[in-house]
Amino acid sequence: MAIAVTGGGGCIKTGSHGTAGRHGWGVVTAMGSKIEKASSQSVSEELLSGWDSVVNRLRVEVGEAAFQSWLKPMRIRNFSDGSVEISVPTRFMRDWAAAHYRDRLIELWQTENSEVNAVEIVVQADIEAAKETESPKETVGSAEGAAIKPRRDELCAPLDKRFTFDQFVVGKPNEFAYAAARRIGEASSVPFNPLFLYGGVGLGKTHLMHAIAWHVRTAQPDRAVLYLSAEKFMYRFIRALREQNIVNFKEQFRSVDVLMIDDVQFIAGKESTQEEFFHTFNALVDQGRQIVISSDKSPSDLEGMEERLVSRLNCGLVADIHATTYELRLGILQSKAQKLGVSIPTKVLEFLAHKITSNVRELEGALNRVVAHSQLVGRDISLETTQEVLHDLLRANDRRVTIEEIQKQVASHFNIRISDMHSARRARSVARPRQVAMYLAKQLTSRSLPEIGRKFGGRDHTTVMHAVRKVDELREHDSGFNEDVELLRRMLEG
Ligand code: ADP
Ligand code: MG
Repeated sequence: MAIAVTGGGGCIKTGSHGTAGRHGWGVVTAMGSKIEKASSQSVSEELLSGWDSVVNRLRVEVGEAAFQSWLKPMRIRNFSDGSVEISVPTRFMRDWAAAHYRDRLIELWQTENSEVNAVEIVVQADIEAAKETESPKETVGSAEGAAIKPRRDELCAPLDKRFTFDQFVVGKPNEFAYAAARRIGEASSVPFNPLFLYGGVGLGKTHLMHAIAWHVRTAQPDRAVLYLSAEKFMYRFIRALREQNIVNFKEQFRSVDVLMIDDVQFIAGKESTQEEFFHTFNALVDQGRQIVISSDKSPSDLEGMEERLVSRLNCGLVADIHATTYELRLGILQSKAQKLGVSIPTKVLEFLAHKITSNVRELEGALNRVVAHSQLVGRDISLETTQEVLHDLLRANDRRVTIEEIQKQVASHFNIRISDMHSARRARSVARPRQVAMYLAKQLTSRSLPEIGRKFGGRDHTTVMHAVRKVDELREHDSGFNEDVELLRRMLEG
């Protein structure tokens, strides 16, 4: 339960306090000692007035907003052996107070009362929990000081039962991401922070995140795991702003042990959500909590993300999930078919693995369609029925070409090196083929201009735009060139 507070070394100790309930201390609020001090045994008048002036002085230093958020909820609970115990409503507040007000609190207090040499900050909720197990009827603390109970379960998006490590088929394209996810699921401390998983749609990012959550929940049930999409994060944040419930919002997020945010690309361009996310992120990392993030692009390729956030995202472990290979697709199909409990001819599985190359989601969908069809019409699954059922999907997959394939094909056609597709060389003998490849990438893939630019050695989107225009122009005026481009296009489209 206790959490090490980073930047330690000072006099404040933090942690849950399992025995506090037994002594029946009075509860003294910051600035409110007059009301409650009579009930206090261990807190002297002198200490109380000292506390009032410490808080008053700190209030001037930190300003009203910080006072309201952090100092006002503090309660003096006890004083013994030179150590003052203060309680705050939540874990997050405890950690924050320790990190931000520790040293100053001690300094100010020592000028008021030289006996004070340590401060211990505890969580009100922990004290209450300890009390409840000892004697359920007793209550400590004013209603005002009651803990804000984080409702984490409400926040956590539902987890898909099928998305476990067991059901994840591992192959070359995803073995690194899988190993990293597994490591986090099994580790009791933080092996790297954050884990940034990225890859195209339907390649298993969400599956791996759910798998981490399932694993932690069963293997280490006392660790709080929170998984949700970046979209949901934003939605919650906006709602908290509207309902003026930000402290509660922060607490909910910052009191988890493992926070997982899916599809972070969603908050690109959304400044205030990013700002909040950045702070949440930092608070958790500073407290040694685990963060896992997924995205469809690498941190550096995320457009509309603040530089400082990108550099934070980059500083943990970045694991990309590559496009599937034939072997992986076949493995996944075999595993899914087995789970469906239907026997499917190997020929059909191989055919699907060959033809549906886009992503695993589509592959799964194709398999489900084939199986559903056969059950519906009561016919065995064969290559013919498969082709029939999937004819639209198969056509769409036939047409897909990757930028890498285009670069390879164009480079070999013009007899230049593939590396020249990325190089800065401007000689026409390499610049022209490069422009052709950019042009074909624009024509044959759904990639945006900036995405294409990046695949060509990090060029600007205006360079790609220029290439497209140039090639269009040349095709009109140079029939030999036009034939070259046409030939390449036909070859690439297979
Ligand atoms: P992403 O979040 O990357 O878009 P998902 O995690 O939602 O993709 O995966 C899409 C579907 O493909 C899910 O049903 C998932 O279970 C399945 N899937 C992806 N990769 C694998 C894999 N390696 N083994 C088994 N199923 C997988
Ligand atoms: Mg996903």
